[in-house]
Amino acid sequence: MDHFMKRAIELAINNVKDGGQPFGAVLVKDQDIIAEGVNELHKVHDVSGHAEMLAIRRAQEQLQTNDLAGFTIYASGEPCPMCLTAMYFAGIDKVYYCQSIDDAFNAGLGKSKMIYEDLKNAREDRGLNMVQIPLNRNQSNPMKLWKENV
Ligand SMILES: [Zn+2]
Repeated sequence: MDHFMKRAIELAINNVKDGGQPFGAVLVKDQDIIAEGVNELHKVHDVSGHAEMLAIRRAQEQLQTNDLAGFTIYASGEPCPMCLTAMYFAGIDKVYYCQSIDDAFNAGLGKSKMIYEDLKNAREDRGLNMVQIPLNRNQSNPMKLWKENV
């Protein structure tokens, strides 16, 4: 196994020993580890406290950029939809993962699988109800304002 993945697994194992969930992530550029993260939901009241999110956040703060093009992430577990989306926004090049969403489901960590399944549904059929409330005719339009200013 690749040594970056070995490190991600080691982080996950240590996190379980610390009372946390079995997830660790390593963010790599040009064969160097730039940032690491573990799932911190046992320590913080913040649903974004996932290993990959924290590694991404740390790298972006450290490098003062939102653009992580050229980066590869090694995650002990297949990324959840939130972390995957953050990787898209950051422009990360490639994701390696070890244990799958189904492995997580079988370990009693089934939310990611449920969300991936729900996202396949049409918007109106999803478990999280989304309702559009349009602007009134006399309201300022934030997107129009943004477009006029870029
Ligand atoms: Zn996640």
